[in-house]
Amino acid sequence: MKKILYLVLGTVVSLTACTKKQAVVSRPAFSSDSAYAYIEKQMAFGPRVPNSAAHMQCAVWLIEQLRACGAEVELQKGEMPDYRGNSQQIYNIIGHFYTPETAARPRILLGAHYDTRPWCDEEEDYADRFYNVPGANDGASGVGVLLEIARQTGLKMADSTFTTPVDIIFFDCEDSGTPSHYTGPEREDTWCLGSQLWATNYAKKISSLDERVGGVSYSFGIVLDMVGAPDASFPREMYSTNYAANYQQQIWRTAQKLGYGSIFTDQQSYPITDDHYYINYIAGIPCVDIIHYDIRNATGFPHWWHTRNDNLDNISKSTLQAVGEVVMAQIK
Ligand SMILES: [Zn+2]
Repeated sequence: MKKILYLVLGTVVSLTACTKKQAVVSRPAFSSDSAYAYIEKQMAFGPRVPNSAAHMQCAVWLIEQLRACGAEVELQKGEMPDYRGNSQQIYNIIGHFYTPETAARPRILLGAHYDTRPWCDEEEDYADRFYNVPGANDGASGVGVLLEIARQTGLKMADSTFTTPVDIIFFDCEDSGTPSHYTGPEREDTWCLGSQLWATNYAKKISSLDERVGGVSYSFGIVLDMVGAPDASFPREMYSTNYAANYQQQIWRTAQKLGYGSIFTDQQSYPITDDHYYINYIAGIPCVDIIHYDIRNATGFPHWWHTRNDNLDNISKSTLQAVGEVVMAQIK
């Protein structure tokens, strides 16, 4: 993902904090131990850089996990131009969670990217920039939380308390955008290749009447990216505010009710190019990004972002628990 600077440079809007206390808070089922174990497993494959064996092994494992949770799994394959204009193979993994009774209802879309960045181009030392990002936070954390949500959703489906169908999408190739050392001609839209492919296909489908009849539709979406750090802060991301303000408010309000207002902060941040942008812009589905962003820091992103330090030392179960509960609470 990258930060967009041209719109609101220097403006930080602080919103009024909600101070109302809830006497009894019912917490959605979510196990951060389980989410953490899913992150450890991804890390054990090594960096999940597109075109690598670790990436493919992780993809196969994700498909197995979704199936084991009771999803109908779809592997979406395609090609997109990379930052040099060369063809890049894309493998998006989609888990459909629905029952015969809920199949025709609008779904909630939950997404995270499972690929990791091929270059540590935020490293100070030039030689270090050619390592792969380990991707504990930037990749594995969002996927780990969603796998635990998949497990919980599967349990809900089995005990018939299930009313809202959910699609969990693991997007490929989010993080292979133009590296800082590249000196060739600049191309547009080199980030988020998997979600661009998915959103373009979805937009084509809904424009065809035949497909729309009996086809899948979505009420809204949530994308998780870098959701595991002990000092995580999630201000309200600007594209989400522009495209999906109501859902963003609903999610941040839930976080406050659950006691996570210090992480889901009452601040507005910059627009960030992440998978949610293309889901909003191309597919027309209101979609909210929950992404670590620190408005006090110069780059805005955390110190380990796109460096060799994006490892398990920067993953906290209490942050995973907060994010997991807040997202689970949106699934009615
Ligand atoms: Zn990244």
